[in-house]
Amino acid sequence: MIDLRSDTVTKPTEEMRKAMYEAEVGDDVYGEDPSVLKLEETAADMLGKEAALLVTSGTQGNQIAVLTHCRPSQEIILEAESHIFYYESGAVSALAGVQTRTISGHRGAMDPHAVRDAIRGVDIHYPETGMISIENTHNRAGGAVVPIENMKSVYEIAQMHKVPVHIDGARLFNAAEAVGVEVKEFAQYADTVQFCLSKGLGAPVGSIIAGSADFIRVARKWRKRLGGGMRQAGIIAAPGLIALTKMKDRLGEDHANARKLAGDIQNIKGLRVDNQVETNIVVVDVKELGVTSQEFVAKLYSEGVLAGGFGPTLVRFVTNYDVSTEQLNQASKVISRVAASCQ
Ligand SMILES: *Cc1c(COP(=O)(O)O)cnc(C)c1O
Repeated sequence: MIDLRSDTVTKPTEEMRKAMYEAEVGDDVYGEDPSVLKLEETAADMLGKEAALLVTSGTQGNQIAVLTHCRPSQEIILEAESHIFYYESGAVSALAGVQTRTISGHRGAMDPHAVRDAIRGVDIHYPETGMISIENTHNRAGGAVVPIENMKSVYEIAQMHKVPVHIDGARLFNAAEAVGVEVKEFAQYADTVQFCLSKGLGAPVGSIIAGSADFIRVARKWRKRLGGGMRQAGIIAAPGLIALTKMKDRLGEDHANARKLAGDIQNIKGLRVDNQVETNIVVVDVKELGVTSQEFVAKLYSEGVLAGGFGPTLVRFVTNYDVSTEQLNQASKVISRVAASCQ
């Protein structure tokens, strides 16, 4: 099977498995796991933040950010197709008791003026704006990079209104790779950042949230409350450290593979690449074939290629470490054959 459903499907490398085996561990709820502490320090340093916290997943990281920044009854501003709004099972209302104010973006980026206009003034009728979230790269915008300039503008407006900014940077390292900068360059325009170790970076489990030391102190307590306080978590942190120090440098391969795949698909009759491919995501519209994305995905599956439905006629392919360029060429052939069989 050639698995292009997501970059979450990557399995830990030999080096990661060895690091897990050899990891120095302790009880992290007591703050005594040296591998976790090292990972958190390294991540904070890379992001240019005072402190960082290892959490179980990207969703947990985002939710801890909302819980730490906001109080129940407040409102958060976020992009209309953002993960926090679209894919986190309504957690912000279920857990943090906040409501969402969505803004439709352009390729994942919200217009700073629209953000400014959405920030609530003082009025007895209004909820207070508790947080602004920026997703980078933006998943439903097809892995689009939200430009640093856009982030800077939003951050300046947010600071003027004393509203914290959070980056849902599940794939922030992909954004940095695509632009050719360090993740710090993005992180400087936010108070807090979440990124996933378990996506393109290839670690088996975990995400990081980072911010000020004060923020992380409160976030740590929220993590415990949510049942995310883990004990000998160095077993997870050790491969996470390899993800951060080594795997980040190979994300360009995933991006090149995605561009190659998009180029191949563009030449297949009846298929249209729906996004401008900037990182590791290719979104394909199968509408002209007269099939649904579900039907198309099922046909691909029967020929050994896994992809994901992304809308009624949209199919998502995500390149990743576990799919070689050779396998990708094989996938292109299968996609072409399946498309031809639909005509
Ligand atoms: C995957 C993802 C998350 C959540 O990560 P999980 O580890 O799956 O909970 C959050 N935001 C974005 C943009 C994502 O792509």
